[in-house]
Amino acid sequence: MTNIHSTAADMASALAAKEISSVELTQQHLDRIASVDGKINAFLHIDNAGALEQAEAIDKKRANGEKLSPLAGVPIAVKDILAQKGIPTTAGSKILEGWRPPYDSTVVAKLKAAGVVILGKTNMDEFAMGSSTENSAYGTTQNPWDLTRTPGGSSGGSAAAVAAFEAPLAIGTDTGGSIRQPAALTGIVGVKPTYGAVSRYGVVAYSSSLDQVGPFARTVLDTALLHEAIAGHDERDSTSINAPVPQVVAAAKRLDVKGMKIGVIKELSGSGFQAGVSARIAESIELLVAAGAEIVEVSCPNFEYALAAYYLIAPSEASSNLARFDSMRYGLRVGDDGSRGAEEVMSATREAGFGKEVKRRIILGTYALSSGYYDAYYGSAQKVRTLVKQDFDNAFAKADVLISPVTPTTAFKIGEKSNDPVAMYLSDIATIPVNMAGIGGMSLPVGLADEDGLPVGLQIMAPVMQDDRFYRVGGTLEAALLSKWGQPILSEAPDLAVQK
Ligand code: GLN
Repeated sequence: MTNIHSTAADMASALAAKEISSVELTQQHLDRIASVDGKINAFLHIDNAGALEQAEAIDKKRANGEKLSPLAGVPIAVKDILAQKGIPTTAGSKILEGWRPPYDSTVVAKLKAAGVVILGKTNMDEFAMGSSTENSAYGTTQNPWDLTRTPGGSSGGSAAAVAAFEAPLAIGTDTGGSIRQPAALTGIVGVKPTYGAVSRYGVVAYSSSLDQVGPFARTVLDTALLHEAIAGHDERDSTSINAPVPQVVAAAKRLDVKGMKIGVIKELSGSGFQAGVSARIAESIELLVAAGAEIVEVSCPNFEYALAAYYLIAPSEASSNLARFDSMRYGLRVGDDGSRGAEEVMSATREAGFGKEVKRRIILGTYALSSGYYDAYYGSAQKVRTLVKQDFDNAFAKADVLISPVTPTTAFKIGEKSNDPVAMYLSDIATIPVNMAGIGGMSLPVGLADEDGLPVGLQIMAPVMQDDRFYRVGGTLEAALLSKWGQPILSEAPDLAVQK
C-alpha cells in the first residue's frame, strides 16, 4: 500500500494506476508534518492550502486522461532559498522576513510544470552559510535520528524533512557541501549536480561561482527522477550549461559497474575520519569490487588547501551578493522614523537583520577584496582553485569516478561546534573540492557507524556533465547494500515520540 514510507517512484506508479490520489498522498504528508515537525523544525512555512490545491489540479488532469510528467502528484519540500511566487522566502534570515517573491525561481516553475506538489519551504542556515542549520534566524532543525543532534546544513531542513518522512523529495543548494553533508548526516541520498546543470534563476545568491541547486530523496532512483525534472538549460541564468541533461534515471536503473574504474582519494581517507565512517566506506569498496569494479588509488595533493581557499572565495562573493540587502528595495527596514539618513537606516537594518556568521563573512570578504589585499587573498585562492581542478583532471585520467567519505564524522550534537567557526568549517573538508572544480557529486547512505548507530555517507564524484556515472555507481551499491541488510537503513518512519 502506498503511504509516506513508499519511494517517490512507487508513489508515482500508484498515482498513475489511480490506486491513490495526489490529494490523499499530499494529505498524508501534511498530517505527518503536523504530527512531527514540532520536534524537527524542518519547515519554515507549510503551504497546506496551496499544496492541496496543486494536488487537486493534478488529480483532475489525470482524470481527464492528460499526459503527465513522471513525478506528477508526488509531494516535495523546497529549501527556503528558492523564490516561490506569493510564498514567504527568507533564506533563513531576518532581513528577508515577510518577503513574498513576485515570481517563481526556474526550479520552482519546473516543479510546478511537472505537477510536483510543493508542501512548503524548509529551514536552512542563514543565506546557506553553515553546516548545521544552527545559523538559521528561525531556530535550528533537529536530526530525526537523534533530536539532540544537528541534521547538518545548510540544507538541513530539506534533509531532515525527507529523513523524517515528511516529504519523499526535497530541493537543496550546495555551495561547499550543503546538500551532500546533510544527506550523509540524515541517511538519505543527496546530489550536487555539475555546476551550471540546474538553473539558479530565482535562487538567493550566496557564492555565485560555487552555488548549485540539487535533489534529495531516500533512494538513488528517486533522486534521479527529481534531478531530471529540475535540470536543463535556462537562458535566464548566464552560467547555465546549454547541453543535453545526462541520462541519470537510466543510469540509476543500470545496476552494473563491471569494468568501471573507481578511484579512492588518498588524501580523503584514513586518519582524520571517525572509525565507524572509515569502516563503512571500506565495506562499500569491497561491495563495488564484488560487483566487478576495479579500485585504483589516486592522489590529490592540493586538496589540503581547498578549505582555506573556499573560505576566501565564498565570503568574498557573499560580501558582494549581500550588498543588495540595503533596506531600500525589499525586506526588513529598521530605524526609518524620519530622523535618520539613508545610510544610517541601511546600517541599522543590516545590523539588526544579519546574524553573526553572515556578518563575519561580509567583513572577511570585504577585507579580502579590498585594494592592496586582493592579489594576496582572493587572487591566491583562485590559483588554488585551478590546482584543485588539475588534481581532479589527473585523477579522472585514471578513474571513471572518485570516492571518499562525505564527512569526517557522523551527526554532531547541537551546540558542539556552534561557537567554533573553524571546527564547523572542517565539516566540509571532503565536499568543498567538488564545488571548487565545478564537478558533480553524490552522497549515498552506506550504513550506520558502530560507535553511535548514526548514518554514514559515501561521496561519489564524476567529471563535468558526467553526472550519470555517480548515479550508476550509487544505484549499484545501493542494491548491493540492500541485499546485504535486507532493508534500507530508513525503512520506516523513526518513532520520534520515543526519542530523547
Ligand atoms: N558549510 C559551507 C559554508 O558554510 C557550505 C555551505 C553551502 O554549501 N551552502 O559555506
